Amino acid sequence: MNILEAQLTNAGVPVESQTLERLHAFYQLIEAGNKRANLTSISGWESVRDELFARSLPLAPLLNGAQPGDRLIDIGTGAGVPGLVVKIIYPHLNVMLIDATRKKIDFLTDAIDALNLKEVTAIHARAEDLAQQPEHRESYDFAVARAVGSLSELAELLLPFVALGGTAAALKSTGVEAEAEQAGFAARQMGGEPAVLSLVERPGVDRPGDGPADTLVTWRKSGPTPESYPRRSGIPRKTPLAAPSPKKTGAEASAE
Ligand code: SAH
Repeated sequence: MNILEAQLTNAGVPVESQTLERLHAFYQLIEAGNKRANLTSISGWESVRDELFARSLPLAPLLNGAQPGDRLIDIGTGAGVPGLVVKIIYPHLNVMLIDATRKKIDFLTDAIDALNLKEVTAIHARAEDLAQQPEHRESYDFAVARAVGSLSELAELLLPFVALGGTAAALKSTGVEAEAEQAGFAARQMGGEPAVLSLVERPGVDRPGDGPADTLVTWRKSGPTPESYPRRSGIPRKTPLAAPSPKKTGAEASAE
């Protein structure tokens, strides 16, 4: 078994020969695309395998039980991470890839064609705008993102896309407990339940000096998102939602 196959198997992903062929083909498309446009700083087979493909796999525990036709949206997908990797390993999912950079979407549209994938679409849009469109708002089983922003920003960008009972998920490195705590207010405003953090070993990568695990941060959605969210384009990043500071009592205020 090669390393990629071991990584997928360890994550509990059913591996078909088409999966491996498509991931290799996707790697070649990334390399070729990177020569024309700056898609990702990662290059070389081992780096793409370990940094882009394997680091999408912490989503596996969430997605292994997904039903055929379940809808997933990847916000700020870049070169297709994790969304196009997910589509390749779970071909039965219906996947939407969005990014604010046109050249990345052009690359993905060609890649989808070259890989002969169906029920996956790449759209050039900002999450803040797309989430206000009725066909996208509260209509996904899963909204996911990696390397796009802080958890407060992501709670506001992801949860408006999620249908009641669905899940928003952010791929993060380790040490994000305080960030998740801070994002609790934003998640609650969007109708999300408290975050669940799961530490996930990087699958099948077992070499000395390898970094620690990654963290999968998930929010289940159990209430509707108020119409005013997400706020206007750029605001979730510039002014992340935060709990209002507790009101001072008269005595505290006069003691200052
Ligand atoms: N998810 C990829 C790319 C991360 S780079 C990976 O893990 O490799 C962040 C990407 O998010 C960029 O391509 C940027 O264009 C996109 N992005 C940032 N904010 C966005 C927003 N509000 N809506 C849509 N895309 C956004």
